[in-house]
Formats: sequence, C-alpha cells, structure tokens
Amino acid sequence: MNRVFNFSAGPSALPLSVLEKAASELVCYKDSGMSVMEMSHRSPVYEEIIKEAEVLFRSIMNIPDNYKVLFLQGGASTQFAAVPLNLMNGSGKADYIVSGQFSKKAFQEAKKYGDVVCIASSEDKNNTYIPQIKREDIRPDADYVHICFNNTIYGTKFNYIPDTGDIPLVADMSSCIMSEPVDVTKFGMIYAGAQKNMAPAGLTVVIIREDLMGKSRPETPVMLDYKTMADNDSMYNTPPCYPIYIAKLVYEWVRDLGGLEAMKKHNEKKAAVLYDYLDAQDYYIAPVEKPYRSMMNVTFVTGDADLDKKFAKEADALGFKNIKGHRSVGGMRASIYNAMPIEGVEALVKFMDEFAKNNPKK
Ligand SMILES: *Cc1c(COP(=O)(O)O)cnc(C)c1O
Repeated sequence: MNRVFNFSAGPSALPLSVLEKAASELVCYKDSGMSVMEMSHRSPVYEEIIKEAEVLFRSIMNIPDNYKVLFLQGGASTQFAAVPLNLMNGSGKADYIVSGQFSKKAFQEAKKYGDVVCIASSEDKNNTYIPQIKREDIRPDADYVHICFNNTIYGTKFNYIPDTGDIPLVADMSSCIMSEPVDVTKFGMIYAGAQKNMAPAGLTVVIIREDLMGKSRPETPVMLDYKTMADNDSMYNTPPCYPIYIAKLVYEWVRDLGGLEAMKKHNEKKAAVLYDYLDAQDYYIAPVEKPYRSMMNVTFVTGDADLDKKFAKEADALGFKNIKGHRSVGGMRASIYNAMPIEGVEALVKFMDEFAKNNPKK
C-alpha cells in the first residue's frame, strides 16, 4: 500500500483506520449479510447506524437538546438557498458577511429571495482577512445574519463570533467543523458539507435551533424544508446512507482520540509547523493577516507564478498531493484537516525548504 499525503481541500483525506474499518465491513456489515450500501434505510440495522451517528455527533459537538441535527444531501451549496427559504420569513431581510467565494455565492443565492445586504466584505484585500462587525452594523430587523466561519479557498477563519443579539447567526462551517470546540449556542444554525472533515461527499450536516424551524416560506421545496426533515429524522426520503455510515466511523475516531479539545491541540500543532516555518523565512509569502489564519487551509505563494507551478508539480511527484491553490487564486494551499497526520506537515515543510534552496529567485 502506498498512501500519499493528501492536502486536498475537499473531498479530502479520511483517517486510515476509518477506511480500513469500512473496508473490513464493506461486503458484509456485522451479521446483516449485506453491505451498508445495499441496506434498506428503514431497516433496524441501518436505523442503528444513523441513530448512533447522531448520538456521537451531538456528544462530540456538545449540541444542546433544543437543536436538531439533520443529515441531508445537496452539499453546502444547496444550503445557500435552503437558509433563506427557511429563515427569511419575517421582515424578509438578511445580512451577509462576504469573506470569500462561498460566502459570496451564499449571498448571491439569498438575494433571489428577499432584501439581502452585504454588511461587510474583505474583497478589498483579496479576502486575506475577516471583517470585524459590530451590533450596529446589523439591521435590527434582519431575519438572520450569515457568515462563512472558515474560508477554504483563502485560508482565513473568523477569530471571533459576531454578536448578533437576538438575531440568529447562521454559519457555513464546511471546512472547520469538528476541528476544535465551538459554542453551538452562539448560533441559530450551523451547516457543513461533510467532504472536508467528516465523510465522503454526498452528506451535508445541519445543526438548527428548534424554534427556527416550521416557518419556511410557502415556495420552499419540501426537500429543503428543515421541519420536514426534522420531523422525519432525516428520512423523509432516502438519506445518503453510506456517507452517514462513514461519518459515524469518523465520529468514533474523533471520540477515541479525545474529542474536539484533543483535535484542537492536534490541529494547532500541525498548523504551527507550517506557519512557524513561513514566518521564519522570506522565500514564501503567507498572504493572510495573522489574526485570521485558518488552522485547516494554509495558503502561501512564492510570488512568482512559474515557481508556484514548479512547486506544485514537484510536490505532486513526491507524494504531496493536491497542494495547488484554488484555480481562482493560484499559489499553494495545504489543507490539513483532522485526518492529516503531523508527519505530513513536517515532510511538507522539509520539501518547501529544499525547494527554496534549489530554486533561488531571480
Ligand atoms: C467546500 C465548501 C462549500 C461547497 O460545498 P459543496 O458541498 O461542494 O456544495 C461551501 N462552503 C465552504 C466553506 C466550503 O469549504
């Protein structure tokens, strides 16, 4: 077996032990005589899987009883529409912070449904920081405020939770969910595509405060209505059965490693290896302002597009995969989600240093 260090931003690396466990159960799950992929989602054996997944996720994330957990399909991008359809139900106003491409997409999608305003943006500096917002910046009658907590493409993360008072705060946490503890009670709703830090693509997890459900706009497709999904325990229709099963294995892995406090320590250590190196040399440039550096997506450039290209190519040949930056920003991006071992980051830094020595800038 020749596993590489996979720095993909998503879908991304899964813990090896999870893949091995899934492989061992692939053809025949326990004594069911069939694969999880082949089961009726309404069978007792599958019901146990999805129930256990929720119990574990609630415990890991410390989710209070007045929040529902939903296992949905459609990716985080479907939530860009589901959020306004479900929550823009009072004044018909919503306030968005645009700190990257995904929050911009969310903002543009929401605009179709009401009076939606971007109250702060970091586009003036190519999204290399997170705008600070205060209570006064938020319209007092907004139905909700939307943020993207970790900006996967640019490598920035909110270093604070905006104070929105009684207005529900909605956060896209696709690329930072389960990377460290988060106070769920500060949010009305959290959503995340699973393929960054939880499971294979195909599953989207929503955490939503109960009182925010049941007031969706009349045109809301039934598949996007949180109340329908909650009332049916995420089984209004066939859920993404297999990704939920893998998510359960990942939750067990996180639990066994000590939960989110332990994850945070592990991730801080990994990110520090990269950022400490970046700060100690002047060959590479880390464009993100320090207070807003992401622990999950570390971006850097050489300042020379040709060298960046050469870097990505040589890195790939050595088994550092998917290190090229997002096609819209260029440069490099090392996505170091929970499943990335510290050895991967250490080996990458060693390569970065060698590359810098072997490729002096003109
Ligand atoms: C990847 C990502 C998305 C898009 O997720 P899909 O599941 O592909 O729709 C949205 N937001 C963030 C923060 C992401 O990292």
